[in-house]
Amino acid sequence: MPDGQENIPHLLKEFIPQGTFFTQVVNRGILGHYVATASLVTGVYETFNNFATVAPDNPTVFEYFRKELHRPASDAWVVAPSNGFSLIGESSHSSHGAGLGAGVILPKRLLAAALAANDSSGYDHLLRDNYESPVYAPALGVSDEQLHQMAQMLKLSVADFAAHARSLRSPDELSVYVARQLMRQLAPSLLWITLHDIDVAHSGTYSLYVDAIQRSDRLCGEIWQMIQSEPEYAGKTTMFILPDFGRDSDTAAGGNGFQHHRTGDAFSRTTWMMVRGAGVRENVLVDRPVESTDLVPTLGSLFGFSPDSSHGKVLPEVL
Ligand SMILES: [Zn+2]
Repeated sequence: MPDGQENIPHLLKEFIPQGTFFTQVVNRGILGHYVATASLVTGVYETFNNFATVAPDNPTVFEYFRKELHRPASDAWVVAPSNGFSLIGESSHSSHGAGLGAGVILPKRLLAAALAANDSSGYDHLLRDNYESPVYAPALGVSDEQLHQMAQMLKLSVADFAAHARSLRSPDELSVYVARQLMRQLAPSLLWITLHDIDVAHSGTYSLYVDAIQRSDRLCGEIWQMIQSEPEYAGKTTMFILPDFGRDSDTAAGGNGFQHHRTGDAFSRTTWMMVRGAGVRENVLVDRPVESTDLVPTLGSLFGFSPDSSHGKVLPEVL
């Protein structure tokens, strides 16, 4: 809407003119964040319980990528906001087998472990796990050894990590900080970052929602700048940005405006996607409706693998 445009200057003034913009990406699946993100990752509308700690049923993009292109574990990573996403890197699908998925970094879990020995008060804003689940998220432990291994891999001392986190305002900023370390130290070819601050909308506080929209827009711009400033990525990287789904219409009788995504109306199902980077056409608008499940087949065409189980279609506009 025109009155919201001032909140997303990076997407509007940088990404749209310099990329290909799909104006209608429809999600026909379940509108819960974990199951919807798992559907994006598999290219199949997954049907498991959104609040269960389960792996996706269908092979993930990470498994196709690693198995067919013979890539090592260090080449595919997920940085995710919520402890509930711990199993998103690898499916339970039998034909793909264990050990071929992506490593999943849960920055909040790392931070919680880093703080475990100390007083963690004052970090509640970074450790908040999700804005939606009425149930307390299961505490997934990280051993000291795992924490130190991860810190070593990211070339961060546990103390530095905790100290840096203190200067950050939100979980998404913590995720982008971890992603930056990952890009510098391991330079994975396939990196999936999920941002979640926007879901503060569930609190019903419009100003916090707008603040999170502005922050997400800024972080998208920062991720692009990170790509351009790293020699392993600059000039040869494609960035896809898309929401998992939308939010209820302001006027749907069964909803409560922006607050939730429960009605399943057109607004809650219809979003967009921006693609920017190497070889992507600039300033192109694609108005035909496409689906969330089209992402994985499109990544398959770009990378050169075949997501056989995906139900989506390749988007020729970005090839
Ligand atoms: Zn939500």
